[in-house]
Amino acid sequence: MEIYKTAKQMQERSLYWESQGWRIGFVPTMGYLHEGHTALMRECRKRCDILVVSIFVNPIQFDNASDLANYPRNEESDMSVCRKAGVNAVYFPTPDAMYPPGYRTYVDVHEMTSILCGASRAGHFRGVTTVCTKLYNTVRPAVAVFGEKDFQQLAVIRRMVEDLNLPIEIVGHPTVREKDGLAMSSRNARLGAQDRINALSIYHALKNAAVSVAAGEFDAGKLISDARQTIEAAGSAGIDYIEIRNPDSLLELERVEGPAQMFIAAHFGPVRLIDNMKISA
Ligand code: AMP
Repeated sequence: MEIYKTAKQMQERSLYWESQGWRIGFVPTMGYLHEGHTALMRECRKRCDILVVSIFVNPIQFDNASDLANYPRNEESDMSVCRKAGVNAVYFPTPDAMYPPGYRTYVDVHEMTSILCGASRAGHFRGVTTVCTKLYNTVRPAVAVFGEKDFQQLAVIRRMVEDLNLPIEIVGHPTVREKDGLAMSSRNARLGAQDRINALSIYHALKNAAVSVAAGEFDAGKLISDARQTIEAAGSAGIDYIEIRNPDSLLELERVEGPAQMFIAAHFGPVRLIDNMKISA
């Protein structure tokens, strides 16, 4: 497995692969890899000749210094996960190399980034779209795979790729869950034992909403207040949002009459978790 630490080396290698007519597949991550990430790698592997994974905890997408400082990291285990997954190359840049002194350029997708996670995390999506653009220009993928766990991120990336005419196929992969239903996340490692149990209420709230819709409850207000009750009863340290939106337009829904996705962000102990689920039939 090849490991590249600078954009120049990574890009030279990608240009070589391109010149050989090989199709580059890409899975961008922030490391502390789990089975959600490896599922994305497997999906990407089917669609490419050369599989590249980036590991970069992107400082400019964090609006909170302690969240950035406490984000879990484990380079050694990540490299071993990538090796086992048959990754051809890992791109592992440093923050200083990504954003050297004098760095001034940002990519901004409007409107759809000011709702949901964008409403509470100022500048978060600007950080995501900026780093993805830089990663694309360095890794030069023909295909990139993203998880539906970060549903809004996937929608924003699809919009950006279309708006900027980037020649990349964006593939979404369903959320990978623990056996009990909790969405896998690097942040789960920071949950204490009781918070880990309580956090499962996010999954239960989403599941209950889907069951209620199937039983004929279409009022978004009612579905949301039920979900809120479930999560509050489990001792959440604060609900950031619970919303029901159209999965394509991300417009808010008052009634579940067509495609509908429920989105939840809630704190358990020191950790902010997000999850989402299709609740319409
Ligand atoms: P992260 O390292 O959390 O930035 O995630 C890197 C990629 O993995 C993103 O496309 C995420 O949506 C995806 N991902 C993270 N957790 C999961 C999961 N549980 N299931 C599916 N994809 C995931």
